[in-house]
Amino acid sequence: MPKTIVIGGGISGLAAAYALQKSEADYLLIEASDHLGGKIVTYAGEGFLIEGGPDSFLTQKRAALDLCRELGLGDQLIGSNHTATPSTYVLSKGKLHPMPEGMMLMAPTMILPILRSELISWPGKLRMGLEIFIGRNTTVADESLGSFVRRRMGSELLAKIAGPLMAGIHAGDPEALSLRSTFPMFTDMEKTHRSLVLGMMKRKKAQAAQLTTGPRPSMFTTLSGGLQQLPNAIAARLNPQQVKLNTRVQSVAAAGGQYRISLADGTSLIADNVVFTTPAYVTAEILQQLTPALAEKLRRIRYVSTSTVSLAFRRSEITCDLNGFGFIVPAAEGRKINACSWSSTKFSHRAPDDFVLMRVFIGGAFAEDLAEQDEATLIDIARNELRDIMGITATPVLARAYRWTKSNPQYNVGHGALIKEIDQLVSAHPGLYLAGAAYRGSGIPDCIQSGVDTAAKIVPRQTSSNPAISHAAPAFVAT
Ligand SMILES: Cc1cc2nc3c(=O)[nH]c(=O)nc-3n(C[C@H](O)[C@H](O)[C@H](O)COP(=O)(O)OP(=O)(O)OC[C@H]3O[C@@H](n4cnc5c(N)ncnc54)[C@H](O)[C@@H]3O)c2cc1C
Repeated sequence: MPKTIVIGGGISGLAAAYALQKSEADYLLIEASDHLGGKIVTYAGEGFLIEGGPDSFLTQKRAALDLCRELGLGDQLIGSNHTATPSTYVLSKGKLHPMPEGMMLMAPTMILPILRSELISWPGKLRMGLEIFIGRNTTVADESLGSFVRRRMGSELLAKIAGPLMAGIHAGDPEALSLRSTFPMFTDMEKTHRSLVLGMMKRKKAQAAQLTTGPRPSMFTTLSGGLQQLPNAIAARLNPQQVKLNTRVQSVAAAGGQYRISLADGTSLIADNVVFTTPAYVTAEILQQLTPALAEKLRRIRYVSTSTVSLAFRRSEITCDLNGFGFIVPAAEGRKINACSWSSTKFSHRAPDDFVLMRVFIGGAFAEDLAEQDEATLIDIARNELRDIMGITATPVLARAYRWTKSNPQYNVGHGALIKEIDQLVSAHPGLYLAGAAYRGSGIPDCIQSGVDTAAKIVPRQTSSNPAISHAAPAFVAT
């Protein structure tokens, strides 16, 4: 019988299982679908590399970068290409405008590009300039992203840049998302420097002093053969006998100091530890009988649906300049897409030289119904929007849509307090662990870190309870 069962074979579950295996701790990884990797899905075919879910990870948090290197993927790591500035465009009144150079999500690090920008009106620029005189927030414990940006930078920056860019990362509503839980660096910056503009400028100076030589590091990193190389590399190192695909966990119940894990095929397993890496609402279903109070809290973490549509075109048929990473679409534009990445400009090896690849984002908190359309409809939406916005009338040589129903957790205002309550309830059940995108960061590095941290808590428990670890195939117990 396995000592630890990890439920869910996305990157969080894989990271947990791999860390357990490295510590020679016994585990069984159970995944409902027929493949590992969860939301990390790469399609490779006809010379194209298409990412269905994430396309890259950030390297400031080192977990993903370090894991890739440890798995021997170091020489496959590639940064985003440096394009002639600007790298991102913003749709405003139906026209694509360059994002002012030096914008770091919501805070400018350079003055001149803002002054020259046609995207922000003069009253909007003046309001941004006033930021350096605005005091700290000392009253509100947790604040929405929308409220914070409006308070510090003004409504225009929120509507045109910060909202679509920052809330877009979480596919969320800026008026609902918690600043502290999504972009804590800005909460800290206000606390330390008061003004974000002054704080950002100091930060930029310090970074420049550190980087006097060598190439400019890129913000986004991926793998030359697609992000799925990462889950594939972990999977290749796991003992195949300790991974069960096509197996859905239905419920977890107490079993005399251990846990009984019931599977959809009617069998069950007994384990000392259970690690949940499933979406919070799935975990809630599984735990409903064992702890209805915890299940109720888990259901409070809202999820929204999104979709991505990748379209490949012959380069000769695209007349517009693709010198950038793509564009974002503010809600006020009333369009059906949120953003478009020019994937073959952003990263190398995504398309053959004579072709370009683009990826359109649909759905999120404001348009879940659109994201849940069938794949043919999603492709039509993407094509129509690119025709209107970029003037692309060519027929794509390849089109692929990926639907992510209820896939993006929303860290709304109060998320931090909710997680504390969840932790409290979990601690009443020794051997139960929650990891993954729902709790302390949904980016790939956060998910990996959550799996690794969970394994680190389990290993001492396993080794103290039984130092002799069996790697035999787990025994199923008929219910
Ligand atoms: C469209 C999109 C784009 C994104 N872009 C980026 C990006 O560019 N960079 C970035 O860092 N992050 C990005 N993210 C976020 C990131 O991809 C996810 O947060 C992360 O991959 C989640 O990993 P996970 O293992 O926690 O969950 P998942 O990948 O959701 O894995 C959970 C697994 O549990 C399985 N499961 C579910 N129910 C059961 C059950 N009952 N029994 C057994 N198994 C079950 C599922 O089949 C799944 O494999 C993006 C997300 C989406 C949707």
